[in-house]
Amino acid sequence: MPKRLPPMVDDRPSRDEWYLHIADEATERAECVRRQIVAILVNADGFCKGLFVNGGYPKGPSCLLGQCPRAFSDVAPGSSYDTGSGSCIALHAEQNLVANSSVEERRGGTAYISDAPCDGCTRTLQGTGLVRIKWRGGEWRREATGPYGSGPHIWRLAE
Ligand SMILES: [Zn+2]
Ligand SMILES: [Zn+2]
Repeated sequence: MPKRLPPMVDDRPSRDEWYLHIADEATERAECVRRQIVAILVNADGFCKGLFVNGGYPKGPSCLLGQCPRAFSDVAPGSSYDTGSGSCIALHAEQNLVANSSVEERRGGTAYISDAPCDGCTRTLQGTGLVRIKWRGGEWRREATGPYGSGPHIWRLAE
């Protein structure tokens, strides 16, 4: 009897597809009445090092329970969630990722996000050792420039 070989087909989703799918599914734990976002930190080896939603620190006041000062302010709907009397206690998912991971976990890694990051989070993520920020519809990549990569590393946006 010849030994039977395993089927030599790898029809799994790509790592990008897989993590973006998980990010989409996980948004149900987000803690904001307005938007639900998930950011997943994947290290340089491709291992998941954390999954973060937008929201306050665990066991702190909750926007969903009406404990956020924004709920008691009289700011216009749609005004800034980040400054002024309408500030919300929730951190963006990307802010939670940076605040609750180590630089060793981030260095050379990727942040998968369930939606395009805001400008502030883009700048923050770009300054934390990551080399890639990926969401459906686009990505930022940190690339070396110059001969043999001797030039400065810059972030390029790919749609
Ligand atoms: Zn809030
Ligand atoms: Zn943001």
